[in-house]
Amino acid sequence: MNAAMTALPLLSVEGLGVEFRTRLGVARVLDEVGFTLARGETLAVVGESGCGKSVTALAIMRLIPQPPGRIASGRLMFDGRDLLALPESEMRRVRGNRIAMIFQEPMTSLNPAFTVGDQIAESLRLHEYPHQFSGGMRQRVMIALALACQPDLLIADEPTTALDVTVQAQIFDLIAELREASATQKGTAVMLITHDMGAVAEMADRVVVMYAGRVVETGSAVEILESPQHPYTRGLIACAPGRRTAVPGQPLEEIPGTVPSLLERGAGCMFAERCASAMPRCSSALPPPTLLGPSRSVQCWLHVEGGTA
Ligand code: SF4
Repeated sequence: MNAAMTALPLLSVEGLGVEFRTRLGVARVLDEVGFTLARGETLAVVGESGCGKSVTALAIMRLIPQPPGRIASGRLMFDGRDLLALPESEMRRVRGNRIAMIFQEPMTSLNPAFTVGDQIAESLRLHEYPHQFSGGMRQRVMIALALACQPDLLIADEPTTALDVTVQAQIFDLIAELREASATQKGTAVMLITHDMGAVAEMADRVVVMYAGRVVETGSAVEILESPQHPYTRGLIACAPGRRTAVPGQPLEEIPGTVPSLLERGAGCMFAERCASAMPRCSSALPPPTLLGPSRSVQCWLHVEGGTA
C-alpha cells in the first residue's frame, strides 16, 4: 500500500440519501449524510432512536431492504471503490471479509442451527448452542466472529444496549483490545453506533451527531463532549445517564418533544420545534454546514455569520 492510499480515508460517505416508501408516502430517512472514517479510527455515530444511525450502517453494508427502501443518492467510497457500484457477488465478499457488523441482539445474528464453535472456528472447540449462552457471552461470540477475518471496518450497532452495565464494560474492553491487536496488522476501524455518551467518552476518537436523518455536528470526541456546539448535541449530553446533575438530587434534563416525522421534511432545521434557541429563519431555511476546524463542523444558524440577524 503506498502513502497516497493510506492518506485516503478508509470510508467516505458522501451525500448519502435513503428513502423508504410507506403507506403514508415516501420518507427520506437519510438526507445528504456525509462523513469520513480513517484506518484504525473509532468513530461514534450518536443520536436518538429514529435519527438514521442504523440505516446509515445498513446502507454501508448494502443491506437496506429494497423495496420498501432505496438508496436514492450519494457515494460510499470504501478503500477507493464505490460500494454502491459493486456487483452483488463482490459486495458479498466485502461483507464479512472487509466490513463486519455486530448488532444489538446477538441471538438473532447467530445461526441456531449450528454450534457456536462451528461458526467461529473449529479450533475454538465450543460445543454449545447459542441459546445456552448469556447475552454477554453471545455478544462476545459475535465480536469474535466479526473479527475472526480481521476486517478493515467493524460496524457495531448498539452492541451493548441489551446487556447489563458490567457486561457492557467487558464488551467495550474486548472491542478495544481486539481493535488494538489487529491495528498492528491492518488498522481495523470501528464505527460505533450508540446513544450512550459514556461509551463515546470511553471508545471514540471522533463523533458524528445525527438528527432526523442528517449530520448536525462532527468533531473529535473531546470537542463534542466538552464543547458541544449544536443545541441538539448539548441536549444529548445534558440527558446522558451518568452525567452529574447541576443541582444534586434534581432529575436530569430531557430534550422536549420527539424526532419529527420524516414524511414531510420542511425547508428548515428539523430540530426547530424542540430547540430553545430557534429563530424565525430556522423553520424556513436549512442552515449550511459551518466548518469550525479541519474535522469539526456544525449545521446550525447560530454558527452562520450573520445567521442570527
Ligand atoms: Fe436551533 Fe435554529 Fe440551530 Fe436549528 S438552526 S438547532 S432551530 S438554533
